[in-house]
Amino acid sequence: MPKFFDSHSHVNDTRFDLDRAETLLRMKENSVWSVVVGTDKKMSEDAVVLAHKNEGIFAAIGLHPTDSDEELFDENFYKKLAKESKVVAIGECGLDYSRVPEEKREEEKKRQTALFEKHLNLAVSSNLPLMIHCRDAHPDILEILHSKKHEFGEKLRGNIHFFSESPETAKKYFDLDFTISFTGVLTFARNYDETVRYAPLEKLLSETDAPYVAPAPYRGKRNEPIYVEEVVKAIAQIRNQDFETVREAMVQNALRSFSIS
Ligand SMILES: [Zn+2]
Repeated sequence: MPKFFDSHSHVNDTRFDLDRAETLLRMKENSVWSVVVGTDKKMSEDAVVLAHKNEGIFAAIGLHPTDSDEELFDENFYKKLAKESKVVAIGECGLDYSRVPEEKREEEKKRQTALFEKHLNLAVSSNLPLMIHCRDAHPDILEILHSKKHEFGEKLRGNIHFFSESPETAKKYFDLDFTISFTGVLTFARNYDETVRYAPLEKLLSETDAPYVAPAPYRGKRNEPIYVEEVVKAIAQIRNQDFETVREAMVQNALRSFSIS
C-alpha cells in the first residue's frame, strides 16, 4: 500500500518532460501513487504508457471540455484504450463555462453536453468511474447525472475533481455516488473549509492537479504528486482529525473508488 494517493495529476504534461523520471522516482521514494489524467488523445495515450511502465501509476482517459483542440470525441479510440488494464477512470471530462463568452454560451453548452454524455456512456459501458472537471456548470452536471442515474444505477459513479462548491452542492454529489477531491488550494484559501468539514471522510479524495496549483510552502513552483502530503495535512487540520486517520482514509478511498487491489 502507498503512503499517499494523488487522485488527479498530470505527470504526462509537457512541464514534466525534462525530469519526468526523477519525478516518478521521488514518488516512489515517498510512497505516492497517482492517477495520471489525460485531456486529449495524446495525453490519454501517454498516461496509459506511463501507467504500464510504473508501479503505482494509473491512468484516466478522456477529452477535456475546453483544454484541447480536439473538437470531436473519437469514440473508437477511447473505447479501445479504456480496455487497457491500468485505466481506472474516464476523464477528465465535464462542463466548463468559465471562459465562454456570453454570445457563444448556447452553442458551446450544446457541444460540451454532447461530449460529456459520450464520456458518461463510455464510463458506464466500461464499468469505470468518471473523473469530472466542472466550472460554473454544476446545475447542468447535476441534472445530467440525475437523469442518467435512473437509467444506470450503481454503474454511474465517479469523482468531482478540484471541488470548489458549498456543502449543499457536495451533498447532491454524494447522493449520486460521487466523491469530491481537493487540491493544495486548501493550504492557502479558506473558502472550502466548510465543505471539507461537512463531507463524510469516505467521500473525500486527495489530489494535486500537478503541475497546477502547488500547495504552501511550494506556492509559485511547479506542483508535483509528492506534495499531496500537504493536501492531506490540510484536510486533517481543517477537519480537526488525526493526520494518520486522514492519510489512511485518502489511500483507501482512492483504492476503492478506482477499484485498485
Ligand atoms: Zn486536471
